[in-house]
Amino acid sequence: MSVTARDPEPVQCCIAGGGPAGMMLGLLLARAGVRVLVLEKHADFLRDFRGDTIHPSTLDVMHELGLLDALLRLPHSEVSELKAQIGDVLVPIADFRHLPTRCRFIAFMPQWDLLDFLASEAGRFPTFQLRMKTEVTGLVEEGGRVVGVHAVTPEGPVTVRADLVVAADGRYSVVREKAGLPVQEFGAPMDVLWFRLSRTADAPQTLGRIDAGAIFIMLDRGDYWQCGYVIAKGTFEQIRAARLPAFRERVARLAPAVRDRVSELRDWDDVKLLTVRLDRVSPWYRPGLLCIGDAAHAMSPVGGVGINLAIQDAVAAANILAEPLRARRPTVDDLRRVQTRREWPTRVTQRIQLVIQNRVVRSVLGASAPIRRPLIVRLLRTFPPLRRLPARLIGMGVRPEHVRTPIAR
Ligand SMILES: Cc1cc2nc3c(=O)[nH]c(=O)nc-3n(C[C@H](O)[C@H](O)[C@H](O)COP(=O)(O)OP(=O)(O)OC[C@H]3O[C@@H](n4cnc5c(N)ncnc54)[C@H](O)[C@@H]3O)c2cc1C
Repeated sequence: MSVTARDPEPVQCCIAGGGPAGMMLGLLLARAGVRVLVLEKHADFLRDFRGDTIHPSTLDVMHELGLLDALLRLPHSEVSELKAQIGDVLVPIADFRHLPTRCRFIAFMPQWDLLDFLASEAGRFPTFQLRMKTEVTGLVEEGGRVVGVHAVTPEGPVTVRADLVVAADGRYSVVREKAGLPVQEFGAPMDVLWFRLSRTADAPQTLGRIDAGAIFIMLDRGDYWQCGYVIAKGTFEQIRAARLPAFRERVARLAPAVRDRVSELRDWDDVKLLTVRLDRVSPWYRPGLLCIGDAAHAMSPVGGVGINLAIQDAVAAANILAEPLRARRPTVDDLRRVQTRREWPTRVTQRIQLVIQNRVVRSVLGASAPIRRPLIVRLLRTFPPLRRLPARLIGMGVRPEHVRTPIAR
């Protein structure tokens, strides 16, 4: 028996992608009384290739929404100082305890918990809809304006008509590609191998290690470590050719605490290759369409700031577009205001990521002898107040946004 899908009712805003950018925008617009539909291609948010960081500026946003206490009741850990193990020395990098914010720490929480939380809070508003297992595949255009999207669902294809389509579908955005928006690529010298190793409750809290030829990150996800092994771009085949036991040994040498667990990597299917890219679209919009988050500017994992930027984009977009969306179809001028507001913070952040990628990551990955700690790292070690600067960049970002959208009555 064949099933057919019914097209959803037209909405004021259709968001492609239920990541941090899409879910936060959906929540803010629905809260402001805008009829919004988020389309997410996966069946749930339970994918492990997402960062787990919630930054102080995002926590401020949650406070402004009255949701901070409820969010922090979910299992998480709070880190008020970031340290990096460089060779055998533990180097303090960022001290969040002096930030002019409500929460002076980074909350580490599995991203699916954050997304589930945003989805359930958004679901309290009658104008919010979320459709999972719905993959956007194309745009509906009329007279040069985007007026909706085509999507596929398990029941068949659907078309959604909307006054505004928002591409929040991440760094491989189909929507921005279909829109033909030009993308500038900045390159990245690394990729990341992503895998899990089990963790006991009494395991030490460590965030990995930087050593000659290797950068290794470990995220505490309760009963397991989410591990990120940074490799030079394009070298995965070489690593595979050297066979799994050699890779396990490399991991064990970097993180002796998990030496007894590396055998949990039974074959290469347990190790996922995440390709890193850094790019930016320009312009971020076309009539009827706006890109935000990684769809507008794919972020490198350097500094772990991409989620924060995506959320800040969503807050700015909602601040600027909620009223126009309630009253009429947003104009190109409305959309340009979002880009104008967010492009500068994005440029500055990507510039810093590029410098770190090219000066630090590239040389660490290319090193065969023990690495010398860069001057800036030595200064951070000697002068504690200096650690407030990275804390500000990582924790608050450039131009933090505040919620200005009203709650619809
Ligand atoms: C290896 C790695 C580690 C990282 N670690 C961190 C970190 O620790 N902290 C941090 O802040 N940043 C980190 N980043 C960056 C961060 O992941 C991104 O910047 C951030 O996720 C962007 O959020 P987003 O909502 O724009 O996009 P995404 O998080 O990519 O979300 C896009 C959503 O759209 C959905 N989607 C995609 N295509 C479609 C479609 N056609 N139709 C419907 N839905 C679709 C996807 O399933 C996904 O749910 C990391 C990046 C990498 C590569």
